[in-house]
Amino acid sequence: MKVLVAVKRVIDYNVKIRVKPDHSDVDLTNVKMAMNPFCEIAVEEAVRLKEKGVATEVVVVTIGPKAAQEQLRTALALGADRAIHVQTDERVESLAVAKLLAKVVEEEQPSLVRLGKQAIDTDNNQTGQLLAALTGLAQGTVASEVVVDGDTLQVTREIDGGLQTLELSLPAIVTADLRLNEPRYAKLPDIMKAKKKPMDVKTPEDLGVETASRVSLVKVESPAERKGGIKVGSVDELVDKLKNEAKVIS
Ligand code: AMP
Repeated sequence: MKVLVAVKRVIDYNVKIRVKPDHSDVDLTNVKMAMNPFCEIAVEEAVRLKEKGVATEVVVVTIGPKAAQEQLRTALALGADRAIHVQTDERVESLAVAKLLAKVVEEEQPSLVRLGKQAIDTDNNQTGQLLAALTGLAQGTVASEVVVDGDTLQVTREIDGGLQTLELSLPAIVTADLRLNEPRYAKLPDIMKAKKKPMDVKTPEDLGVETASRVSLVKVESPAERKGGIKVGSVDELVDKLKNEAKVIS
């Protein structure tokens, strides 16, 4: 079984986001970038399938600038076998990402496509769903457990108020939720080995996909600054402040 995993380069989740002074975008100057955490979870799942002997090959793909090869190398160090880089410096919106991934799916014919449920930079939560629509493959989104059973997949999804289990026939697309697994750290020897693993570089033009944006980013704003808190001396003082200053109780 071949597994294709889509990974995205995003701002490291530990970084405090800065907005550009003209509010045109987030400031990425000298900012640490990393693999989107949900994509790391998807890679971990694919590698575990390989370790169990269920998957025979794990291929990772990203769409992004040259620097996104760092995240592909990380995925290779975590256990993926080879990588595909669709190189572009443009901001590629979800529909175009899904069209490019659909072309890669057509070329690679994977039995299983894994994505994160969302990218933490744009929070779109739609690429997996768009890819399922374009390819006509079955989809299981926000998966918290996935079991491969022959030609079918049991996907448990976290939905409002409980869990839902779906049975999908392969080939299928699954997007990973946070509780699916805890990704491993790459070890130094694996990081060294990853440098020699194959990486195929292509462009959106090579795949025949036009990536011109239909959505423009109008404005980015930081959340309002929170005022510092105070310490109260007693419960009576707290109740008094809640009643008379914050006016949240009567
Ligand atoms: P989104 O729909 O943008 O929130 O992203 C959901 C998932 O789609 C991510 O976790 C990735 O698996 C995949 N994805 C989104 N953008 C890209 C990209 N530029 N390259 C590769 N995969 C992507």
